[in-house]
Amino acid sequence: MPSYYVNRNQQPDGFHEVHIDDHSCPFPPEYANRAPLGQHPNCQSAVAAAKRQYPKSDGCAYCVPNCHTR
Ligand SMILES: [Zn+2]
Repeated sequence: MPSYYVNRNQQPDGFHEVHIDDHSCPFPPEYANRAPLGQHPNCQSAVAAAKRQYPKSDGCAYCVPNCHTR
């Protein structure tokens, strides 16, 4: 199962983006801004976990496009 993390910093539209932790993202946040979400079977599960921390969370358009909904 892949690991995921959420950006502690919000995007200009107020959303916190969830990224997959496998070095595939071309636009990852700084390491210091990554809040680990642990391992998840899919990005939907990772975004659900992120929403417990940040209700406005969404998948990164680049590394988890299946979970990018806005
Ligand atoms: Zn990403």
